[in-house]
Amino acid sequence: MVEVFHESDGNISLLKSKIISIIGYGNQGRAQALNLRDTGLNVIIGNIDDRYKKIAEEDGFPVYPIIEAVLKSDIVFLLIPDEIMKPIFEEEISNNLKVNSSLVFASGYNIGFNLISPPNNIDVMLIAPRMIGVGVRENFLNGNSFFSFIGIEQNYTGNAREILLALAKGIGTLKKGAIMLSFKQEAELDLFNEQGFGPAFGRVLLSAIYTLIEAGYPPEAVLVEMYISNEMSYTYKKMADIGLIKQVDFHSKTSQYGAMSKGIRYRKLPLKPTMKEILKEIQDGEFTKEWSKKLTKLKFKAIKFFATKQKINKIEREVRKNLNLNLYDIYDADSPTNEELAKLKNITDELKLFEQYYE
Ligand code: NDP
Repeated sequence: MVEVFHESDGNISLLKSKIISIIGYGNQGRAQALNLRDTGLNVIIGNIDDRYKKIAEEDGFPVYPIIEAVLKSDIVFLLIPDEIMKPIFEEEISNNLKVNSSLVFASGYNIGFNLISPPNNIDVMLIAPRMIGVGVRENFLNGNSFFSFIGIEQNYTGNAREILLALAKGIGTLKKGAIMLSFKQEAELDLFNEQGFGPAFGRVLLSAIYTLIEAGYPPEAVLVEMYISNEMSYTYKKMADIGLIKQVDFHSKTSQYGAMSKGIRYRKLPLKPTMKEILKEIQDGEFTKEWSKKLTKLKFKAIKFFATKQKINKIEREVRKNLNLNLYDIYDADSPTNEELAKLKNITDELKLFEQYYE
């Protein structure tokens, strides 16, 4: 049985004499630091000298270089982006952690796929909010809370579970609930949502949009109908609030009958075999290996360039202008330079496929 924890499972008083450092005052860092401080805990920030440092100072936190903050702390939250975590951890954090201290991650990625090896005389734990940083803060302030996946990789002190639950309560997630998983499970679920579900959903959405535009409906009306109205995001919210199927009661009988009776025609869409294949690559660490290669960062730049050249981007830009909506520069990603293309020459055929796919 999976373990789910609630408010009464966390005891904040365990943390009263501890110094907690938040390393990286970004999306999650700022939200979690503010929530922990509002809970009455002693929070300091470790950050490089950049605009985030200024924001932390304006928010009234003591801010130190990363090494100094780690040296002062009993509990260290590592809230820098996953893809740059390894070198920073190895150069500035690992050797400066106190014996018996706690190291907290907000994502299972680096530990779950063995990219980072922490010293064995500390506790290593996970509190991964299922919520963007702004939501972590807003839902703390309005009392609605948010779900998290939590985990323990290393329990050197023998008290990791109690400390983890106290921290989870301090961040504000236990009011809603925290689900115990391994680091690897958390990372795999997250990657699968991004790779197994996201692109399939995107293809379905785009197919619907092009079907309607090709049939002659005005693009402005099509995009409003399909997503710009925000109606779909309300439907998603209602799925969470009252249930995936129960929420159909918010729609008209005509809508309900139409959706239920036509759905059967899509039953043979070959989604699951591809999803299983993608999940297996994630579980086997193939994706992690691919993403950690230098060449993949260049491949990403090229693919992103092709993606932003898609027809839908031109259509959307025009529609947004006509509907007096804000325009964003996402439509103009940098093209790879000739030098970069030369480095990619071994995968020219693969890149061609991406170019055609996004055309
Ligand atoms: P951000 O992109 O907001 O960055 C966090 C901080 O890291 C910033 O202060 C940033 O400063 C700093 N940083 C970036 N590069 C460096 C560097 N080379 N050296 C030192 N500091 C650096 O990160 P997130 O808050 O999005 O992610 C933090 C963790 O939270 C990750 O593990 C992520 O997986 C997890 N998470 C994120 C969620 C989200 O919604 N964003 C949801 C749940 C978990 P600067 O950019 O100025 O360098």
